[in-house]
Amino acid sequence: MAASRGKAEALDAIVIGAGVAGLAAARTLAEAGRRVALIEARDRVGGRIHTVPAAHGDLSVELGAEFIHGLPPELIHLVEEAGLTRFELEGDYRCWREERRVGRLEPCGDQREVNRLFDELGQSGLAQDSQDLSFSEFVAQRGVGPEAAAWATNYVEGFNAADANRISVRSLAKQQAAEDAISGDRLSRVVEGYARVPAFLLRTFLDAGGELFTSTPVRSINWKPGWVEVTTAADRVLQASSVILTLPLGVLQARSVVFLPQPVEILEAADRLAMGPVGRVVYEFDRSFWPQSAGLEGLSFLFAPEATPPTWWTTSPRSSPMLTGWIAGRKASKLEMASLPETGLATLASVLGSSLGEVRKHLLRWHLHDWQMDPYSLGAYTYVPRGAVHASDDLSVPVEATLFFAGEHTDTSGHWGTVHGALRSGYRAAEQLLAARVH
Ligand SMILES: Cc1cc2nc3c(=O)[nH]c(=O)nc-3n(C[C@H](O)[C@H](O)[C@H](O)COP(=O)(O)OP(=O)(O)OC[C@H]3O[C@@H](n4cnc5c(N)ncnc54)[C@H](O)[C@@H]3O)c2cc1C
Repeated sequence: MAASRGKAEALDAIVIGAGVAGLAAARTLAEAGRRVALIEARDRVGGRIHTVPAAHGDLSVELGAEFIHGLPPELIHLVEEAGLTRFELEGDYRCWREERRVGRLEPCGDQREVNRLFDELGQSGLAQDSQDLSFSEFVAQRGVGPEAAAWATNYVEGFNAADANRISVRSLAKQQAAEDAISGDRLSRVVEGYARVPAFLLRTFLDAGGELFTSTPVRSINWKPGWVEVTTAADRVLQASSVILTLPLGVLQARSVVFLPQPVEILEAADRLAMGPVGRVVYEFDRSFWPQSAGLEGLSFLFAPEATPPTWWTTSPRSSPMLTGWIAGRKASKLEMASLPETGLATLASVLGSSLGEVRKHLLRWHLHDWQMDPYSLGAYTYVPRGAVHASDDLSVPVEATLFFAGEHTDTSGHWGTVHGALRSGYRAAEQLLAARVH
């Protein structure tokens, strides 16, 4: 599809990738009066925001991003501008403990040692500390007990899609401080579906005269200061004065798009970061049968560290017959993704103290999207390995006032791997372009 204004004309800018970062950048430029083309490989916009309808209930199924983490001003403002509704997640947390092959669900118990560890992470000194450590080294150095160490490691790997032996403590400290500043522990969802946010950005971009090309993968970028030529897989050629690239980190690392000449420092910075894996399966049932079977009224999150997947959640306080299973980081990298839905059902049956047959009886369908195998993401989201805390700063520096990079991996404020980090980066790249002068 090409939603266009018609005849080809000289462009001021090309934006590659219509995820949140690309859409935010493209809208900003179009509204500033620039002639902009937005080029997207998939047949839809939104990138790693991908909402599909649910069988019933008023909430949709999210296959990519689901939560707004905290109250990030840019994203909250956008949701309100789009006239969308948010609701905050609330409810009980339960933990599944297994001892001698017997499991039981119970309140998650004393987390004081884990909380102390994360409080230490948030201390500003750590973010500045010149010597970086991996999270595993940090935990070992702090001498916490084995149970707290396992909980903290599961949390860090699950949240950041990371390997605890690699993820940087300096990045975690920066992230913790960034989250604290926006009440990051509050989670909310967009009732109408997350995809309505990129859909709104698209509408405003088109209203401002922008041009969109979907199903148009970019193959190569020839450039020199002040001039860019983008060639698509179907040999379409577009030229402009500059380009904003929001290719996901995995795509940059795979060199799926060829640059002539190569922006060496940018590609080296991309290689220092890591794209983490995630497996998420959403089950839709004919009704919410779990409160009755396991006394789980008001259940929000359920943690089963030994199981696959280890993290589960409901849509509490809104009721919907939907459960999501989540596995990320090191555990996800060892998993055959196609096996996740069946394995998850068996886990669910054990945890709910039910039989597999009973769980299946209520099951309508499941949803799984393998973001690792998707050629236009090649992974779920970015984390920062030890020693690479400045890589995203390097990625955010324009090349010869002509190549500008955006996307969650280029966020410089500690919000890697999030929708609001991506949004922020898109606005930043657009402002950089608007302020740029080619020498
Ligand atoms: C399973 C999962 C769960 C998540 N959960 C959350 C969450 O709850 N909360 C949260 O804040 N964040 C979450 N995230 C992260 C969030 O989705 C991303 O950080 C954010 O959407 C990234 O936006 P972006 O614009 O940087 O990249 P993308 O959305 O990936 O956009 C990049 C675009 O570039 C396109 N593209 C790729 N290659 C080419 C090419 N050759 N030519 C043209 N176009 C190309 C892609 O198709 C894509 O549309 C989650 C991610 C995943 C995968």
